[in-house]
Formats: sequence, C-alpha cells, structure tokens
Amino acid sequence: MPRLAGRIGLVKPSATIAVKQEADRLRALGVDVIDFGPGEPDFPAPANVKRAAHRAIDEDLSHYLPTQGLPALRRAVAAHYASTYGTDYDASEVIVSCGGKNALFEAALALVEPGDEVIIPSPYWVSFPEQVLLAGGVPVILPASESDGFIPRASQAARLAGPDTKAIILCSPSNPTGAVIPAEEIEAFADLVMEKDLYLVFDECYEKFLYDGRRHASPARHAGRLRDRLILVSTLSKSYAMTGYRIGYAVSCRPIVAALAAVQGHDCTHPTAIAQAAAVEALEGPQDDLRRMIEEYRLRRDLMVEGLRSIPGVTCATPPGSFYAFPGVTGLCQRLGSPDSASLAGRLLAGARIATVPGEAFGAPGFLRFSYALSQERIREGIERLRSCAAGR
Ligand code: GLU
Repeated sequence: MPRLAGRIGLVKPSATIAVKQEADRLRALGVDVIDFGPGEPDFPAPANVKRAAHRAIDEDLSHYLPTQGLPALRRAVAAHYASTYGTDYDASEVIVSCGGKNALFEAALALVEPGDEVIIPSPYWVSFPEQVLLAGGVPVILPASESDGFIPRASQAARLAGPDTKAIILCSPSNPTGAVIPAEEIEAFADLVMEKDLYLVFDECYEKFLYDGRRHASPARHAGRLRDRLILVSTLSKSYAMTGYRIGYAVSCRPIVAALAAVQGHDCTHPTAIAQAAAVEALEGPQDDLRRMIEEYRLRRDLMVEGLRSIPGVTCATPPGSFYAFPGVTGLCQRLGSPDSASLAGRLLAGARIATVPGEAFGAPGFLRFSYALSQERIREGIERLRSCAAGR
C-alpha cells in the first residue's frame, strides 16, 4: 500500500462524480442508463459561446493570463453583480476559477485553520464538508428540516456557533434539494455573521434556476456591511450548459480575493484562456438560450415531480429552484426491502438502469437526488422504469 497522507483518509470520493462514472461505464458496455445522477445539463453550449471559443483559438489566446482571470471576464462578472444585485464590486474583486468547486476549495484553504469549525446546513452539496476537512477544519452539520422545505435557519445556526466557529457555507437555490433561502433569512444570516464575527461562503451556482416567479435572494445585497465577511461563488456551468468549459468565479473583498489567487497561483494558475473568452460571450451576449433552457427546466421539473409522486412509497415536494428533485424514499425502501437509500440507489441502477445519487452523500439518508437536466422523454422513461421496479417487476 502507498503511504498516503492522512488527510486522504478523511475524505470520500465525490459521490456525484462516482455515480456519473458508473453510469458512463455501464453506457460504454451498451447498457441504456437513464442518468438522473450528475447535475449536468443535456443542452449544448449556446452557439454564440461556441463561436467565441473558436475565435479565441484563431486569435491565439493561447498564453498565460493573469491568475485572477481574463480582465474582460472579471469586468463582465462585476457588471453582472452590479446590474442584478446593485453591488459596486470592481473587476479586481473577482477571481475566475475552474468551476465553482475550485473557488469553494480555495475559500476553504484561505479561511479555515486546523480546528476551525464551519457550519454547513444539510442536505449539503457533497464537496462542502470534504473541502473543509481537507483544509483541516471541522464541519458542523446543521440539519434543515424537510417539513420546513429544507430551508436552513439562522436562528438554528446561531445555536451551533461557538468560539471555534469560523464560517458558514450556504447554497441557494440548493443542490441537492432545490430549496430557495428567502430574503429575510439571508438577512438573518448576514446579522449572525456580523454578530459572531464569522465569514459567509455563499454558493449561488443555481442563481438563474428559479421557477414560478421566485426571485433569487443573494447576500450580495448586503455587500455593503458584509464586504469583508462574504465570499460569493457562482459558475457558468449550469446556466450556459458549459460544465466542461470549467468556468466559475468568486467575488469578495480584495484581501480575500488575493488569498484565493495566492492558492490558485500554486494550483491550476487559471482556467483555460479559450474557455474564459467563451465565458465573456456567455455573460455579455444574447440571453435567449438561457431563458429557453430555464423554461424547459420548469416543464421537466413538473414532469419529474408529478411522476415521482405517482410512485407508491415516494414523497416529493415541488422544489422552487435548481434542477434537482429530492424525494423521500423510505416507503419505497420498505416496499422493496432495501435497508437504506444508498442500497436503493444501487438497486435502481443495477435493476432498473436508473442512476440517482443517494441522500447519504448529502448527509440526508432516506432521500434520493434526481437531476432533471435530461429530456422530457428520458424523464418519462425513467419514471416508468421506477414504477416497474417499485411494483417488483
Ligand atoms: N455539481 C454537480 C452535481 O452536484 C456536478 C458534479 C460535481 O461537480 O460534483 O452533480
């Protein structure tokens, strides 16, 4: 056995990536898997974005950029925050990263010291606790309740905040539940951060994915008083269906952005220049594809939720945001004799050829995450396979 560093023993491989790899493996063997697993839009990147990538190649954008990212992209991100949330962040307060995940990891490395506690509401995105652990910190899990729509509450976080608490990580709209934290709760978290001298890392990768007239409440609106305490993280991966381009970013005060850049400068340096040029076009070009995709996601969500609710033993609230449904499956586990949702997910993949991510990966056993970022036809087919499986066929 290789003598690996102790920190490797602290973390599990990413469950979302693992499910994707297993589904890909089965597909390569010719198995027709319906992949509700990863949060991966099935749309191609918009045509104008692809053209911008081609242009960048032709114009020889093939050398190093500033570590913080292409200046035009940083300006586009700052302009997005100014026009959407009324902030006055400058391009120097933006860092471009390899997806939102990279910026979140840099934030953990920049903020967390050994023994620092970080409050993370569950169900959480799989990488939050692992990144805190890799940074030497202690994830303190705050369970959000299903009956409260999985909305994390600042009053409950306040009870967990002690002398060692350094930060809170929030995600809204939520991966994996689709919950949207309301504006007044965001304000309460901002109050808590100020009162207890904490940092707020806010993952808003699904900021464009809200339905039924809901509006995204970003703590960016409190950037005035939270300036030195707030790290906003987002991505173009989901909104513009460009996951493989690996473009995300963080927005914060200059000293924090400088800290993230110091980490990034010793890691990936910066994401691919060609992808950064394409990202400028995504943010500044026409937004018609984005609007079309969001409308299609709403139809898919309704189809997904209605289908899941029609399965005996499955309960499912209508998620107001992101592109995940997070149904309760304890009844289905009982019907099928599966001891837990992890084994149910394994059984669904092996028996019904449906890939899902078990709630255990998000700190929420008894649930499965279904991404509905796949066509209505595939969603219908997946629901029928689930129905047959639930009926023991
Ligand atoms: N963020 C997506 C998910 O949760 C993609 C996989 C990953 O980066 O973990 O499925």
